[in-house]
Amino acid sequence: MTKIVIVGCGIVGAMIAYELSLIPLLDITVIEQQKPASGSTGAALGVLMGVISGKTKGRAWKLRENSLKRYESLISELESQTGIKIPVNRQGIVKLVFAGDNLEKWQKLQQTRQDKGWELAIWSREYLSRQCPQIQDERIIAAVYSPQDRQINPKILTEALVTAATQNGVKFQFGVTVQDYQNQVLLTSEGVLELDYLVIAAGLGSTPLTTFLQQTLDLRPVLGQATRFKLENNFGLGDFQPVITGNDVHLVPLGNQEYWLGATVEFPNEAGEVIPETELLEAVKQEAIAFCPILAEATILETWSGKRPRPQGQAAPVIGKLTGYDNIILATGHYRNGVLLAPATALEVKSMIC
Ligand SMILES: Cc1cc2nc3c(=O)[nH]c(=O)nc-3n(C[C@H](O)[C@H](O)[C@H](O)COP(=O)(O)OP(=O)(O)OC[C@H]3O[C@@H](n4cnc5c(N)ncnc54)[C@H](O)[C@@H]3O)c2cc1C
Repeated sequence: MTKIVIVGCGIVGAMIAYELSLIPLLDITVIEQQKPASGSTGAALGVLMGVISGKTKGRAWKLRENSLKRYESLISELESQTGIKIPVNRQGIVKLVFAGDNLEKWQKLQQTRQDKGWELAIWSREYLSRQCPQIQDERIIAAVYSPQDRQINPKILTEALVTAATQNGVKFQFGVTVQDYQNQVLLTSEGVLELDYLVIAAGLGSTPLTTFLQQTLDLRPVLGQATRFKLENNFGLGDFQPVITGNDVHLVPLGNQEYWLGATVEFPNEAGEVIPETELLEAVKQEAIAFCPILAEATILETWSGKRPRPQGQAAPVIGKLTGYDNIILATGHYRNGVLLAPATALEVKSMIC
Protein backbone atom coordinates (compact mmCIF):
# COMPACT_ATOMS: atom_id res chain seq x y z
CA MET A 1 0.00 0.00 0.00
CA THR A 2 1.30 3.46 -0.92
CA LYS A 3 0.64 5.83 1.97
CA ILE A 4 -0.59 9.28 1.00
CA VAL A 5 -1.36 12.13 3.37
CA ILE A 6 -3.30 15.16 2.09
CA VAL A 7 -3.21 18.32 4.20
CA GLY A 8 -6.35 20.45 3.87
CA CYS A 9 -9.98 19.55 3.25
CA GLY A 10 -11.22 22.44 1.15
CA ILE A 11 -12.55 21.71 -2.33
CA VAL A 12 -9.02 20.92 -3.60
CA GLY A 13 -7.98 18.47 -0.86
CA ALA A 14 -11.40 16.76 -0.89
CA MET A 15 -11.35 16.42 -4.70
CA ILE A 16 -7.85 14.90 -4.63
CA ALA A 17 -8.89 12.47 -1.87
CA TYR A 18 -11.92 11.33 -3.86
CA GLU A 19 -10.05 11.00 -7.17
CA LEU A 20 -7.25 8.98 -5.52
CA SER A 21 -9.80 6.82 -3.67
CA LEU A 22 -10.84 5.38 -7.04
CA ILE A 23 -7.39 3.79 -7.40
CA PRO A 24 -6.75 0.48 -5.63
CA LEU A 25 -3.86 -0.05 -3.19
CA LEU A 26 -3.57 3.49 -1.90
CA ASP A 27 -3.78 4.22 1.83
CA ILE A 28 -5.08 7.80 2.01
CA THR A 29 -5.45 10.09 5.03
CA VAL A 30 -6.71 13.68 4.95
CA ILE A 31 -5.75 16.03 7.80
CA GLU A 32 -7.86 19.15 8.30
CA GLN A 33 -7.33 21.59 11.15
CA GLN A 34 -10.99 22.61 11.29
CA LYS A 35 -13.84 20.98 9.36
CA PRO A 36 -14.39 20.47 5.61
CA ALA A 37 -14.78 23.66 3.55
CA SER A 38 -13.91 25.98 6.43
CA GLY A 39 -11.33 27.98 4.44
CA SER A 40 -11.78 29.81 1.14
CA THR A 41 -14.11 27.08 -0.16
CA GLY A 42 -16.76 27.92 2.45
CA ALA A 43 -17.01 31.48 1.10
CA ALA A 44 -17.02 30.68 -2.63
CA LEU A 45 -19.92 31.30 -5.01
CA GLY A 46 -19.10 28.23 -7.09
CA VAL A 47 -19.30 29.97 -10.47
CA LEU A 48 -17.38 27.83 -12.96
CA MET A 49 -16.20 30.28 -15.62
CA GLY A 50 -14.55 27.90 -18.05
CA VAL A 51 -15.81 28.31 -21.61
CA ILE A 52 -16.53 31.98 -20.92
CA SER A 53 -13.07 32.66 -19.46
CA GLY A 54 -10.66 34.56 -21.68
CA LYS A 55 -8.15 31.64 -21.58
CA THR A 56 -7.59 30.04 -24.95
CA LYS A 57 -4.31 28.13 -24.85
CA GLY A 58 -1.59 26.54 -22.78
CA ARG A 59 -1.92 25.30 -19.22
CA ALA A 60 -4.61 27.85 -18.23
CA TRP A 61 -7.08 26.58 -20.87
CA LYS A 62 -6.10 22.90 -20.51
CA LEU A 63 -6.89 22.99 -16.77
CA ARG A 64 -10.25 24.60 -17.45
CA GLU A 65 -11.15 22.19 -20.23
CA ASN A 66 -10.14 19.14 -18.14
CA SER A 67 -12.22 20.40 -15.21
CA LEU A 68 -15.29 21.09 -17.35
CA LYS A 69 -15.10 17.58 -18.79
CA ARG A 70 -14.59 15.90 -15.41
CA TYR A 71 -17.46 17.85 -13.82
CA GLU A 72 -19.89 16.42 -16.37
CA SER A 73 -19.55 12.86 -15.02
CA LEU A 74 -18.48 13.71 -11.45
CA ILE A 75 -21.77 15.09 -10.14
CA SER A 76 -23.95 12.12 -11.10
CA GLU A 77 -21.18 9.77 -9.91
CA LEU A 78 -21.15 11.42 -6.45
CA GLU A 79 -24.93 11.74 -6.21
CA SER A 80 -25.57 8.10 -7.00
CA GLN A 81 -22.86 6.89 -4.61
CA THR A 82 -23.71 9.12 -1.64
CA GLY A 83 -27.39 10.00 -2.09
CA ILE A 84 -26.43 13.66 -1.50
CA LYS A 85 -28.18 16.08 -3.87
CA ILE A 86 -25.57 18.57 -5.10
CA PRO A 87 -27.12 21.87 -6.23
CA VAL A 88 -25.85 22.59 -9.77
CA ASN A 89 -27.14 25.35 -12.03
CA ARG A 90 -27.01 23.93 -15.57
CA GLN A 91 -28.57 26.98 -17.24
CA GLY A 92 -25.23 28.53 -18.05
CA ILE A 93 -23.69 31.94 -17.53
CA VAL A 94 -24.77 35.21 -19.15
CA LYS A 95 -21.99 37.79 -19.30
CA LEU A 96 -23.08 41.37 -19.88
CA VAL A 97 -21.09 43.41 -22.39
CA PHE A 98 -21.02 47.15 -21.74
CA ALA A 99 -20.32 50.13 -24.00
CA GLY A 100 -16.55 50.46 -24.20
CA ASP A 101 -16.00 46.66 -23.81
CA ASN A 102 -14.34 44.91 -26.70
CA LEU A 103 -17.17 43.01 -28.40
CA GLU A 104 -14.85 41.84 -31.19
CA LYS A 105 -12.77 40.00 -28.60
CA TRP A 106 -15.87 38.00 -27.64
CA GLN A 107 -16.72 37.27 -31.28
CA LYS A 108 -13.18 35.93 -31.73
CA LEU A 109 -13.49 33.82 -28.59
CA GLN A 110 -16.79 32.45 -29.86
CA GLN A 111 -15.00 31.19 -32.99
CA THR A 112 -12.08 29.75 -30.98
CA ARG A 113 -14.43 27.85 -28.69
CA GLN A 114 -16.54 26.60 -31.60
CA ASP A 115 -13.41 25.22 -33.28
CA LYS A 116 -12.82 23.13 -30.14
CA GLY A 117 -16.43 21.96 -29.81
CA TRP A 118 -17.57 24.41 -27.13
CA GLU A 119 -20.55 26.72 -27.47
CA LEU A 120 -20.79 30.47 -26.93
CA ALA A 121 -23.59 32.68 -28.23
CA ILE A 122 -23.46 36.45 -28.70
CA TRP A 123 -26.80 38.01 -27.87
CA SER A 124 -28.00 41.40 -29.03
CA ARG A 125 -29.29 43.81 -26.40
CA GLU A 126 -32.86 43.12 -27.57
CA TYR A 127 -32.46 39.34 -27.29
CA LEU A 128 -30.99 39.77 -23.80
CA SER A 129 -34.07 41.79 -22.77
CA ARG A 130 -36.32 38.95 -23.92
CA GLN A 131 -34.30 36.22 -22.20
CA CYS A 132 -33.47 38.15 -19.01
CA PRO A 133 -36.07 40.95 -18.66
CA GLN A 134 -34.75 41.76 -15.16
CA ILE A 135 -31.61 43.19 -16.78
CA GLN A 136 -32.19 46.84 -17.71
CA ASP A 137 -29.19 49.06 -18.20
CA GLU A 138 -28.54 51.61 -20.95
CA ARG A 139 -24.79 50.84 -20.78
CA ILE A 140 -25.30 47.27 -22.05
CA ILE A 141 -24.60 46.70 -25.75
CA ALA A 142 -24.75 42.90 -25.91
CA ALA A 143 -24.31 39.71 -23.88
CA VAL A 144 -22.31 36.52 -24.21
CA TYR A 145 -24.17 33.35 -23.27
CA SER A 146 -22.24 30.26 -22.27
CA PRO A 147 -24.64 27.30 -21.95
CA GLN A 148 -21.99 24.74 -20.96
CA ASP A 149 -20.62 26.65 -17.96
CA ARG A 150 -22.07 25.79 -14.56
CA GLN A 151 -22.48 26.99 -10.99
CA ILE A 152 -22.24 24.57 -8.11
CA ASN A 153 -22.63 24.74 -4.32
CA PRO A 154 -19.03 24.39 -3.10
CA LYS A 155 -19.81 23.35 0.50
CA ILE A 156 -22.26 20.60 -0.48
CA LEU A 157 -19.90 19.39 -3.20
CA THR A 158 -17.08 19.16 -0.61
CA GLU A 159 -19.39 17.26 1.75
CA ALA A 160 -20.30 14.80 -1.03
CA LEU A 161 -16.62 14.30 -1.92
CA VAL A 162 -15.76 13.58 1.74
CA THR A 163 -18.68 11.15 2.06
CA ALA A 164 -17.79 9.30 -1.15
CA ALA A 165 -14.07 9.18 -0.32
CA THR A 166 -14.85 7.87 3.18
CA GLN A 167 -17.01 5.13 1.67
CA ASN A 168 -14.07 4.28 -0.61
CA GLY A 169 -11.74 3.87 2.38
CA VAL A 170 -10.13 7.31 2.84
CA LYS A 171 -9.50 8.27 6.50
CA PHE A 172 -10.29 11.84 7.53
CA GLN A 173 -8.92 13.51 10.66
CA PHE A 174 -10.76 16.76 11.43
CA GLY A 175 -9.66 19.24 14.09
CA VAL A 176 -6.06 18.05 13.61
CA THR A 177 -3.20 20.40 12.64
CA VAL A 178 -0.04 19.45 10.79
CA GLN A 179 2.95 20.74 12.71
CA ASP A 180 6.15 19.32 11.21
CA TYR A 181 7.59 16.85 8.70
CA GLN A 182 10.90 15.00 8.75
CA ASN A 183 12.12 11.93 6.87
CA GLN A 184 8.73 10.80 5.60
CA VAL A 185 7.09 11.23 9.00
CA LEU A 186 4.45 13.88 9.57
CA LEU A 187 3.93 15.32 13.03
CA THR A 188 0.36 16.37 13.79
CA SER A 189 -1.42 17.62 16.90
CA GLU A 190 -2.69 14.00 17.34
CA GLY A 191 0.57 12.09 16.80
CA VAL A 192 2.80 10.94 13.93
CA LEU A 193 1.97 9.56 10.49
CA GLU A 194 4.35 7.75 8.16
CA LEU A 195 3.88 8.44 4.48
CA ASP A 196 5.16 7.90 0.96
CA TYR A 197 3.57 11.05 -0.51
CA LEU A 198 2.53 14.31 1.11
CA VAL A 199 0.03 16.47 -0.80
CA ILE A 200 -0.20 20.06 0.41
CA ALA A 201 -3.70 21.35 -0.40
CA ALA A 202 -3.94 23.71 2.54
CA GLY A 203 -4.89 26.92 0.73
CA LEU A 204 -3.37 29.88 2.58
CA GLY A 205 -2.11 27.41 5.22
CA SER A 206 0.31 26.09 2.57
CA THR A 207 2.72 28.98 3.20
CA PRO A 208 3.58 28.06 6.84
CA LEU A 209 3.73 24.37 5.86
CA THR A 210 6.26 25.01 3.11
CA THR A 211 8.22 27.31 5.43
CA PHE A 212 9.01 24.47 7.81
CA LEU A 213 10.08 22.47 4.73
CA GLN A 214 12.57 25.32 3.97
CA GLN A 215 10.89 26.08 0.61
CA THR A 216 8.45 28.89 1.34
CA LEU A 217 5.64 29.19 -1.19
CA ASP A 218 4.45 32.79 -1.04
CA LEU A 219 0.64 32.89 -1.06
CA ARG A 220 -1.17 36.12 -0.14
CA PRO A 221 -4.81 36.56 0.92
CA VAL A 222 -7.20 38.41 -1.40
CA LEU A 223 -10.43 39.00 0.45
CA GLY A 224 -13.89 38.56 -1.04
CA GLN A 225 -17.19 39.65 0.51
CA ALA A 226 -20.55 38.37 -0.67
CA THR A 227 -24.21 38.40 0.36
CA ARG A 228 -27.29 36.23 0.19
CA PHE A 229 -30.54 38.09 -0.43
CA LYS A 230 -34.20 37.44 -1.10
CA LEU A 231 -36.73 39.07 -3.42
CA GLU A 232 -40.50 39.09 -2.97
CA ASN A 233 -40.98 37.47 -6.38
CA ASN A 234 -38.86 35.48 -8.81
CA PHE A 235 -37.32 37.76 -11.37
CA GLY A 236 -36.66 37.13 -15.02
CA LEU A 237 -38.27 34.21 -16.81
CA GLY A 238 -39.20 31.66 -14.14
CA ASP A 239 -37.76 28.70 -16.03
CA PHE A 240 -34.56 30.42 -17.23
CA GLN A 241 -32.33 31.37 -14.30
CA PRO A 242 -28.68 31.43 -15.43
CA VAL A 243 -25.86 33.05 -13.47
CA ILE A 244 -25.54 36.66 -14.58
CA THR A 245 -22.20 38.38 -14.48
CA GLY A 246 -21.41 42.00 -15.26
CA ASN A 247 -18.34 44.07 -14.48
CA ASP A 248 -17.00 41.23 -12.28
CA VAL A 249 -20.20 41.09 -10.19
CA HIS A 250 -21.93 37.69 -10.07
CA LEU A 251 -25.63 37.21 -9.49
CA VAL A 252 -26.25 33.57 -8.61
CA PRO A 253 -29.83 32.20 -8.45
CA LEU A 254 -30.39 29.71 -5.62
CA GLY A 255 -34.12 29.04 -6.01
CA ASN A 256 -36.90 30.13 -3.64
CA GLN A 257 -36.32 33.78 -4.75
CA GLU A 258 -32.91 33.73 -3.07
CA TYR A 259 -29.64 34.80 -4.70
CA TRP A 260 -25.94 35.15 -3.91
CA LEU A 261 -24.26 38.36 -4.93
CA GLY A 262 -20.51 38.99 -4.97
CA ALA A 263 -17.74 39.21 -4.62
CA THR A 264 -15.37 42.04 -3.74
CA VAL A 265 -11.66 41.71 -4.58
CA GLU A 266 -9.64 43.26 -1.72
CA PHE A 267 -5.85 43.11 -1.63
CA PRO A 268 -3.77 43.05 1.57
CA ASN A 269 -2.16 46.19 3.03
CA GLU A 270 1.59 46.61 3.53
CA ALA A 271 1.43 44.60 6.76
CA GLY A 272 -0.11 41.72 4.79
CA GLU A 273 -3.50 42.15 6.47
CA VAL A 274 -6.80 42.38 4.68
CA ILE A 275 -9.83 43.70 6.52
CA PRO A 276 -13.29 43.70 4.87
CA GLU A 277 -14.33 47.19 3.71
CA THR A 278 -18.08 47.78 3.83
CA GLU A 279 -17.90 50.42 1.06
CA LEU A 280 -16.52 47.83 -1.36
CA LEU A 281 -19.40 45.44 -0.73
CA GLU A 282 -21.78 48.38 -1.16
CA ALA A 283 -20.11 49.16 -4.52
CA VAL A 284 -20.75 45.56 -5.66
CA LYS A 285 -24.39 45.91 -4.62
CA GLN A 286 -24.76 49.26 -6.43
CA GLU A 287 -23.21 47.83 -9.61
CA ALA A 288 -25.71 44.94 -9.47
CA ILE A 289 -28.61 47.38 -8.98
CA ALA A 290 -27.33 49.40 -11.95
CA PHE A 291 -27.78 46.46 -14.31
CA CYS A 292 -30.66 44.79 -12.46
CA PRO A 293 -32.75 47.58 -10.86
CA ILE A 294 -35.21 45.28 -9.04
CA LEU A 295 -32.36 44.35 -6.68
CA ALA A 296 -32.90 47.68 -4.92
CA GLU A 297 -35.92 45.98 -3.30
CA ALA A 298 -33.96 42.96 -2.06
CA THR A 299 -33.72 41.96 1.60
CA ILE A 300 -30.19 41.03 2.65
CA LEU A 301 -30.23 37.74 4.59
CA GLU A 302 -26.53 37.18 5.20
CA THR A 303 -23.10 38.71 4.49
CA TRP A 304 -19.77 36.86 4.71
CA SER A 305 -16.18 37.04 3.58
CA GLY A 306 -13.35 34.68 2.75
CA LYS A 307 -9.70 34.88 1.73
CA ARG A 308 -8.59 33.59 -1.64
CA PRO A 309 -5.08 32.06 -1.79
CA ARG A 310 -3.16 34.03 -4.43
CA PRO A 311 0.37 32.98 -5.45
CA GLN A 312 2.90 35.79 -5.47
CA GLY A 313 5.18 35.98 -8.52
CA GLN A 314 3.72 32.97 -10.32
CA ALA A 315 0.51 32.00 -12.07
CA ALA A 316 -2.38 30.40 -10.18
CA PRO A 317 -2.73 27.55 -9.36
CA VAL A 318 0.49 25.96 -8.07
CA ILE A 319 0.48 22.25 -8.93
CA GLY A 320 3.71 20.26 -8.87
CA LYS A 321 6.50 18.86 -6.73
CA LEU A 322 7.97 21.06 -4.01
CA THR A 323 11.53 21.97 -5.02
CA GLY A 324 14.02 19.57 -3.42
CA TYR A 325 11.39 16.93 -2.57
CA ASP A 326 10.36 14.03 -4.78
CA ASN A 327 7.41 13.01 -2.64
CA ILE A 328 5.84 16.35 -1.67
CA ILE A 329 3.21 17.66 -4.07
CA LEU A 330 1.76 21.16 -3.99
CA ALA A 331 -1.88 21.57 -5.04
CA THR A 332 -2.69 25.04 -3.91
CA GLY A 333 -2.85 28.76 -4.74
CA HIS A 334 -6.05 28.52 -6.79
CA TYR A 335 -6.90 32.17 -6.13
CA ARG A 336 -10.30 32.98 -7.76
CA ASN A 337 -10.91 29.64 -9.48
CA GLY A 338 -10.41 26.83 -6.98
CA VAL A 339 -13.88 25.38 -7.39
CA LEU A 340 -13.55 25.46 -11.17
CA LEU A 341 -10.04 23.98 -11.22
CA ALA A 342 -10.29 21.39 -8.44
CA PRO A 343 -11.14 18.42 -10.75
CA ALA A 344 -8.25 19.14 -13.15
CA THR A 345 -5.92 19.64 -10.17
CA ALA A 346 -6.91 16.27 -8.71
CA LEU A 347 -6.29 14.58 -12.08
CA GLU A 348 -2.80 16.14 -12.26
CA VAL A 349 -1.97 15.00 -8.73
CA LYS A 350 -3.24 11.52 -9.59
CA SER A 351 -0.95 11.33 -12.63
CA MET A 352 2.03 12.45 -10.51
CA ILE A 353 1.41 9.71 -7.95
CA CYS A 354 0.40 6.90 -10.31
C1 LIG B 1 -15.92 35.31 -1.76
C2 LIG B 1 -15.27 34.26 -2.64
C3 LIG B 1 -15.90 33.87 -3.80
C4 LIG B 1 -15.31 32.89 -4.61
N1 LIG B 1 -15.98 32.45 -5.71
C5 LIG B 1 -15.45 31.48 -6.49
C6 LIG B 1 -16.16 31.01 -7.62
O1 LIG B 1 -17.27 31.48 -7.92
N2 LIG B 1 -15.59 30.02 -8.37
C7 LIG B 1 -14.38 29.47 -8.06
O2 LIG B 1 -13.94 28.56 -8.78
N3 LIG B 1 -13.68 29.90 -6.99
C8 LIG B 1 -14.18 30.90 -6.20
N4 LIG B 1 -13.48 31.36 -5.12
C9 LIG B 1 -12.11 30.86 -4.90
C10 LIG B 1 -12.15 29.51 -4.19
O3 LIG B 1 -12.92 29.63 -3.03
C11 LIG B 1 -10.72 29.05 -3.82
O4 LIG B 1 -9.87 29.12 -4.93
C12 LIG B 1 -10.78 27.59 -3.33
O5 LIG B 1 -11.76 27.45 -2.33
C13 LIG B 1 -9.44 27.13 -2.78
O6 LIG B 1 -9.64 25.83 -2.26
P1 LIG B 1 -8.55 25.12 -1.36
O7 LIG B 1 -9.09 23.79 -1.03
O8 LIG B 1 -7.23 25.20 -2.04
O9 LIG B 1 -8.41 26.07 -0.07
P2 LIG B 1 -9.31 26.18 1.23
O10 LIG B 1 -10.74 26.07 0.91
O11 LIG B 1 -8.85 27.39 1.94
O12 LIG B 1 -8.93 24.89 2.07
C14 LIG B 1 -7.69 24.72 2.73
C15 LIG B 1 -7.93 23.94 4.00
O13 LIG B 1 -6.67 23.61 4.60
C16 LIG B 1 -6.82 23.67 6.00
N5 LIG B 1 -5.46 23.84 6.58
C17 LIG B 1 -4.63 24.89 6.43
N6 LIG B 1 -3.48 24.69 7.11
C18 LIG B 1 -3.58 23.47 7.70
C19 LIG B 1 -2.70 22.72 8.55
N7 LIG B 1 -1.48 23.14 8.92
N8 LIG B 1 -3.14 21.51 9.02
C20 LIG B 1 -4.37 21.05 8.68
N9 LIG B 1 -5.22 21.73 7.87
C21 LIG B 1 -4.84 22.92 7.38
C22 LIG B 1 -7.74 24.86 6.22
O14 LIG B 1 -8.41 24.78 7.48
C23 LIG B 1 -8.71 24.75 5.04
O15 LIG B 1 -9.90 24.06 5.36
C24 LIG B 1 -14.04 32.33 -4.27
C25 LIG B 1 -13.42 32.73 -3.09
C26 LIG B 1 -14.01 33.69 -2.28
C27 LIG B 1 -13.32 34.10 -1.01
